[in-house]
Amino acid sequence: MRIGIGYDSHRLVEGRRLVLGGIDVLFEKGLLGHSDGDVLCHAIIDALIGALGEGDIGKHFPDTDARWKDASSILLLKHIVEMVKSKGFEIVWIDSVILAEQPKLAHCMDSMKDAISQSGIPKSVINIKAKTNEGMGFIGRGEGIAAQAVCLLKKIER
Ligand code: MG
Repeated sequence: MRIGIGYDSHRLVEGRRLVLGGIDVLFEKGLLGHSDGDVLCHAIIDALIGALGEGDIGKHFPDTDARWKDASSILLLKHIVEMVKSKGFEIVWIDSVILAEQPKLAHCMDSMKDAISQSGIPKSVINIKAKTNEGMGFIGRGEGIAAQAVCLLKKIER
């Protein structure tokens, strides 16, 4: 068994789509980033990379690489899910939390799970939660959105 932890945060700015968990969420601002700025997918990616002992997201998808400019984070996640499989592991569980003062996200969870499952992670092993930051700090002021994720991987017996 291996565990991994991931964290990400991006700045909220005007004139960008808000992409979270692979879906477009209706909001007046979006997350700034080299890719689509999807903090939830990035946190899950870092948790999986961490469990594999393969460094971090910046090593695999450097923001100096034009290939990942405005890339769908679901596509990045798909790359990492394939790496998990190629290294002989299966994903047992992913738990995650999005920290956002706005917008309300509770009604988006099922769509996010559907979108994330496009990367090859079974929907049945993904949990997503959403919390506000009770008005405190950069999240509370609406300056950005953050996400945390943990994963459990199991080595497949051969
Ligand atoms: Mg990121």
